[in-house]
Amino acid sequence: MAFTCRQCGTCCMYLGDYIVIEKQLGPFEFACESVSTGTQFVAVIDEDKREIFADHSFPEQHPHACRFLRPDGDLIRCTIHRDSPAQCKYYRCVVMRIADPSGDPIGYVTGNLSLHTEDPGLRAAWEMADREIPHRHPDAEGRYRGFLEAHGYRVE
Ligand code: SF4
Ligand code: SF4
Repeated sequence: MAFTCRQCGTCCMYLGDYIVIEKQLGPFEFACESVSTGTQFVAVIDEDKREIFADHSFPEQHPHACRFLRPDGDLIRCTIHRDSPAQCKYYRCVVMRIADPSGDPIGYVTGNLSLHTEDPGLRAAWEMADREIPHRHPDAEGRYRGFLEAHGYRVE
């Protein structure tokens, strides 16, 4: 399935300790660090999001959220979309939704190929696939998908 971010903000709600503002450089410009990779970067608030960024009630109410996250109508959006670090830009929260042969949803897979399921049969099939498919294979995602479909699961 092609991944489309719904801008729900869920993945950024506990990243306040990982995307850190080190210094304010200007009204909308910040020196930052992505702590997990040790990458320093300068973030300028996107021009079309400066109004929502200026309201600090959301970060005050959600102290663990990334400092750049803000509500915008029904969405919760990153206000540094242009300058956000690579791991943010390429993050995909769901790359496969898996259903059993009758179509009942039983699990999903995140962009780093982690399975989330309570179903022991699916867990066992995934572990079997894990032993056969190298994670670094250029088409690992497609190979996992094919493996599950060959074992009767429906994958979207
Ligand atoms: S990547 Fe997923 S969890 Fe994060 S904002 Fe987009 S839809 Fe929500
Ligand atoms: S920089 Fe943007 S995408 Fe990355 S954690 Fe913060 S709000 Fe989320």
